[in-house]
Amino acid sequence: MTTRPRVYVTRRLPEAALAIVRQACELRLWDEEAIAVPRATLLREIADADGLLSLLTDRIDAGLLDAAPRLRAVATVAVGYDNVDVPALSARRVLLTNTPGVLTETTADLAWALMMAGARRLVEGQRLISAGQWTSWSPMFMVGQDVHGATLGIVGAGRIGSAVARRAQGFAMRIAYHNRRPAPELEAATGARHQPLDQLLAESDFIVVLVPLSAETRGMFGTREFALMKPDATFVNVSRGPVVDEAALYAALRAGRPGYAALDVFEREPIGADHPLLTLPNVIAVPHIGSATVATRTRMATVAATNLVAALTGQPVPHPVNPEAW
Ligand code: NAP
Repeated sequence: MTTRPRVYVTRRLPEAALAIVRQACELRLWDEEAIAVPRATLLREIADADGLLSLLTDRIDAGLLDAAPRLRAVATVAVGYDNVDVPALSARRVLLTNTPGVLTETTADLAWALMMAGARRLVEGQRLISAGQWTSWSPMFMVGQDVHGATLGIVGAGRIGSAVARRAQGFAMRIAYHNRRPAPELEAATGARHQPLDQLLAESDFIVVLVPLSAETRGMFGTREFALMKPDATFVNVSRGPVVDEAALYAALRAGRPGYAALDVFEREPIGADHPLLTLPNVIAVPHIGSATVATRTRMATVAATNLVAALTGQPVPHPVNPEAW
């Protein structure tokens, strides 16, 4: 009799994903929707697990691997994996998988929504009405910035950034992007121009950040970068919070350059209601919902479950992050 691989799942996931795991594996689950598994519980549960199905709220590091002698694969329900110490996994020949692609369009939609909401001051308008402060239509009341025809600068034009560029075509925007390497396919498809970061920051009306968090991109946006931006620029971050120095952003917004920030991600999540950025009228903050639609979150979970089961049953793995280590 062969024993089925044991899998620990760190959050209640859509049943479609759990069913994929159950079909081939013994499954144990941290059966909570809104509370992350406590570290001590995770370390206990991982002791005899062959596979881990986890989220970006779980820190996967050498300490966890020490507690997991049988672990062969970790499937994260995300495209970004800055919460995972990949070299530590590779050193122990543990495979990491992620969910690229399935969340691209949904996350680009949110980036677009934040851009529009900042440009046209939607949240401010809602607050103003709720506070009973709408007294009259007047010529320059609640004026914002045009999105159509403006210059968009995408920092990190990969899958999601390219999807944002495609949306910008429909708004007749001039599109600039900054990656470490030029992306000829993006340029051919959208007319986007590859620019050095400083030039992009100085010339763009909207700056949308979609780089992965890495040693190189941590703190990429600080006092110097904000000072380069136009006073009426809108800064949108949908990547990861630590790409931005939030204290510097706070000071920059107070000084009026950039004019607006719309943020999905933060240095520490969840941010509290007392976060200084929330005291500023020119900030929109949403709780890391880039990929949060029913269809996409369900697909992400099923893709992650499929990755994990494939890894544990010797099938070709659709989305390996460190295949060379396996
Ligand atoms: P991707 O296809 O790998 O794109 C990342 C882009 O960033 C690439 O074009 C890459 O180009 C560029 N890049 C990487 N390092 C850079 C650097 N140091 N300087 C300049 N450009 C750099 O990834 P994706 O699928 O579009 O996802 C991007 C990120 O979005 C994820 O890593 C994740 O953190 C974040 N995300 C957030 C949410 C959310 O809910 N808010 C949802 C999904 C994803 P080069 O390699 O040529 O530099």
